[in-house]
Amino acid sequence: MATPAGPSADAVLIVGGGLAGGLLALELRQRGVPVTLLDAGSPETATALSYGGVPGWPILPTPLARRAAGAGRRWRQLQRQHGDLGWRRCGLRQHGSARAPWARWLPFSRVDAVRLRARLPEVLAAAGVEQLQGEASALAPCAGGWRLHRASGEALQAQQLVLAAGAGCRALWPSLPPQLRCSWAGVLEAPGLDRQIITLPQPFQRPLLERRAPQLQQPEWVVDAGLAPWGEAALLGQLTWVPPDPGGGTPPPAETMEHWLRQAWAASGVRAPTALAQAGRFHRVPVAFCSDGLPLVGPIPQAPGLWVFSGFSGAFAQVPVLAPLLADWLAGSPRQRAQAPQRLRALGLGCPAQ
Ligand SMILES: Cc1cc2nc3c(=O)[nH]c(=O)nc-3n(C[C@H](O)[C@H](O)[C@H](O)COP(=O)(O)OP(=O)(O)OC[C@H]3O[C@@H](n4cnc5c(N)ncnc54)[C@H](O)[C@@H]3O)c2cc1C
Repeated sequence: MATPAGPSADAVLIVGGGLAGGLLALELRQRGVPVTLLDAGSPETATALSYGGVPGWPILPTPLARRAAGAGRRWRQLQRQHGDLGWRRCGLRQHGSARAPWARWLPFSRVDAVRLRARLPEVLAAAGVEQLQGEASALAPCAGGWRLHRASGEALQAQQLVLAAGAGCRALWPSLPPQLRCSWAGVLEAPGLDRQIITLPQPFQRPLLERRAPQLQQPEWVVDAGLAPWGEAALLGQLTWVPPDPGGGTPPPAETMEHWLRQAWAASGVRAPTALAQAGRFHRVPVAFCSDGLPLVGPIPQAPGLWVFSGFSGAFAQVPVLAPLLADWLAGSPRQRAQAPQRLRALGLGCPAQ
């Protein structure tokens, strides 16, 4: 039988140690709150296989995009506090029909996902975050807040529990709003690039397909022929497979997805050594997104003490600027707690009731 153990009563328990859970944990520790972070420990996650691109301008005319345009400043502050997290300025090259000739002068940066993944555990440990490895299998309200059952059979209990588990959120709390959905991404890992440049297609098709997800009758996929440095290697292309099922359904066999991606890459006309794509090793990961483009950030209605932080489109720009607001709401001063919901609402964010 599961035994409640682990975090103290006033601790915040976070499920998911990717970009969202990791940066939120750091913000909460800064506010003096005990934090326990449980992560399944898979090496293949959306954060680990990301280009990590951070545009330094509002990519849409929305309050959220204007806020996210300040993410570079936030990454710089985080690195001053915690040391290198993999963030650095980089060039942007666009290709395709909607390419803007002035794109090369746009302020762009990136977080090297390999570096972030290597550094995050030690940064979290230095900040005093208790890190546990294991899969959460179920959660339920209890007298002291929430009880989280682990696949290993143990249980954890906390007053406040945050779902930052990306594509794993819905399995833990199925009544999350329907706009939170899951797609499958495929990329090729290839030998290194010697330049700090991200190449992106214009238009970028993934967000357009994500917007159409609620109307889909059958799965659809697109390939965005991008190219980004990734540690000593490079990531090529991004296949996005979106099913009608918000939970992500069962993706096609990995070999099929790899074939689609290689074909589309070959036809893309991206200027890159052919050897890059030929040698590539295929990876596939589930990715959470919100079909309305607005991530879920806040308490879950009708579930006091349960919070969600997921469904980003442009997580590397959104998470660093939203994590402080969510941390204020969870654990700030009385004034910060009062202001945080309004500040998130002003960005069009929250977690709407079902
Ligand atoms: C190829 C590719 C390129 C991308 N490029 C960009 C880009 O340039 N810019 C950008 O901003 N975004 C980009 N993205 C998207 C971005 O990477 C993701 O939106 C972001 O990393 C999501 O972070 P997350 O922490 O919410 O989720 P995840 O990274 O999915 O982390 C969730 C964590 O929760 C854990 N977990 C899940 N279920 C459980 C459970 N039951 N119990 C315990 N732990 C659990 C997982 O192990 C994982 O560590 C890209 C994605 C891909 C795949």
